[in-house]
Amino acid sequence: MALVHVCEVLDGNLEDKNVAIRGWVYRKREGKGVVFLVVRDSTGVIQCTVKNSSPDWEKARLLTIESSLSLKGVVKRDKRAPGGFEISVERISIIGLAEVFPISKDQSEQFLRDVRHLWLRSRRMNLIMKIRSDILEFIREFFAGKNFVEVSPPMFISAAVEGGSTLFGLKYFDQNLYLTQSSQLYLEILIYSLEKVYCIAPSFRAEKSRTIRHLTEYWHIEGEWPFSDMNDLMAFQEELVSQICLRTAEKCGRQLEELGVNISKLTSVETPFPRITYTEALQKLQPLGTKLNWGDDLGYEDEKSLAEIFGQPFFVYDYPAAIKAFYCKNYRDRPEIAMSVDMLVPRIGEISTGGAREDDKEILVDRIRKMGLDEKDYDWYVDLRRYGTVPHVGFGIGLERLITWILDLENIIDSIPFPRTTRRFHP
Ligand code: ATP
Ligand code: MG
Repeated sequence: MALVHVCEVLDGNLEDKNVAIRGWVYRKREGKGVVFLVVRDSTGVIQCTVKNSSPDWEKARLLTIESSLSLKGVVKRDKRAPGGFEISVERISIIGLAEVFPISKDQSEQFLRDVRHLWLRSRRMNLIMKIRSDILEFIREFFAGKNFVEVSPPMFISAAVEGGSTLFGLKYFDQNLYLTQSSQLYLEILIYSLEKVYCIAPSFRAEKSRTIRHLTEYWHIEGEWPFSDMNDLMAFQEELVSQICLRTAEKCGRQLEELGVNISKLTSVETPFPRITYTEALQKLQPLGTKLNWGDDLGYEDEKSLAEIFGQPFFVYDYPAAIKAFYCKNYRDRPEIAMSVDMLVPRIGEISTGGAREDDKEILVDRIRKMGLDEKDYDWYVDLRRYGTVPHVGFGIGLERLITWILDLENIIDSIPFPRTTRRFHP
């Protein structure tokens, strides 16, 4: 008798074979002389029927939702069973009998988030987490294919990357440190040794705003490389994102379908992505009644309105320098414009920010001073411009925003197993 996973039974090659499976009771219903169990394991759910003639009939009646068990039986084709197959059970062995499971049908989002440690067992969360894992694999595959080196930057840092307002401070022995908002500055160090580098690491933002796209801890996919410009940067990102869309559609089709995801959205993404400047974006927003003036940052509503026009990922570039961070490079002949680019997608708005980094020591130091930052905090960063400076570019994509868009999730919270927001940090 073969010990198999549920997906192997559903694949259809085990008809009339004796199998054993291990898992948990997902649903249970009792009919006349028969108990219907829906058993789940990490790979799927399968209907299992136990008749009152079975030696383990009493055990089947005793089983509660989420009890763990192993069972043996014969695989039968059955049109009425979800997935087209069921197991006609011969023996059951109860591993852990569950107490009354607190999650039943039609519970509020709020409650499901409170019992996240249990809700993660649901079919829906199982599928999302598996696709998340696949997407991470596609990302690594893509970077490796371009000969990037994966690096591991620190999370404890001593100076801000993205401005003080979203910085988490912490006690580090008798010093004050921060949790990193981005690994970019460390990637910039590493390009001088490894040239093309990337990382997939947490970033932390003390975001007070409660939106469908902000977490306080998220996973940041960041890439950085030398001898390149804005065009290279946009081309690289569109290839990455379109590749992720295609690979996801291709490899996770069945799961996407089960989640009710619009797969054509993924297969119809066209490259090159549309590209508009910040100024053109404002012009497009004007007839839609925006209150933005040149120099204001785009808000979530503006980004969403723009994204509706394009209906797929696109770029907005050449932002006002004044709203960008100290490390952004400006055009030499137009210092008021930063070589900065965001990728936007429908419904979510921004999913990535990238740009050219200031590579001139004097200009960089001047910006650090003008922005009221402490030069001492960035001594090593300035050093990079002192010893063999090179034009270089990089970007950061929020993994959870990408997943939220790909999977049509209503809220970013469901794209990560243990979301951290202003109010959620338990479990
Ligand atoms: P926003 O303006 O939407 O708050 P940002 O411009 O401050 O984002 P960046 O510093 O550009 O964010 O970070 C790069 C990417 O990281 C963003 O494009 C986004 O995908 C992701 N990101 C930033 N902040 C968060 C957050 N709080 N939660 C989840 N993802 C985030
Ligand atoms: Mg940004």
